Amino acid sequence: MPADQVCLQCGKCCERWGWDQKGIVEDLIPWLEKNRTDILQHVSIRLSHGKRVSGTAITAGDLSRIVRIYYWQDTAGRKMRECPFFGRDEEGDALCAIHDVKPRVCREFTPWTWQNHEFYGNCPACREKAP
Ligand code: SF4
Ligand code: SF4
Repeated sequence: MPADQVCLQCGKCCERWGWDQKGIVEDLIPWLEKNRTDILQHVSIRLSHGKRVSGTAITAGDLSRIVRIYYWQDTAGRKMRECPFFGRDEEGDALCAIHDVKPRVCREFTPWTWQNHEFYGNCPACREKAP
């Protein structure tokens, strides 16, 4: 499969792997700069003293104290088993509500370059045929 294979926007990856993912500090920076509390409220963060807080509770000054970032949580702090930003349009095509600022784990999801069988077998862009 060529490296320039394009995503078919079926949404299977968001439904199947769009939760229980780990983030990186760089994901948080634009959300903090743009005051994206709509996103930060769904981020769970463990700080160096062991406390777990919502993304809405941190500032840029806390970034160096972050040990782990988890996607996603509900507004009560409970782990979610779906991505709160995933949706579909009227034709059924996948939509990401935070496409322009989505986390790296989503931006860099290109399983056709990975040779990973779990992803490779479930992503239709990794096959010769459309879904
Ligand atoms: S499963 Fe593959 S084709 Fe479908 S949206 Fe994800 S990357 Fe694109
Ligand atoms: S943030 Fe967007 S790309 Fe990432 S899992 Fe959710 S809907 Fe999919």
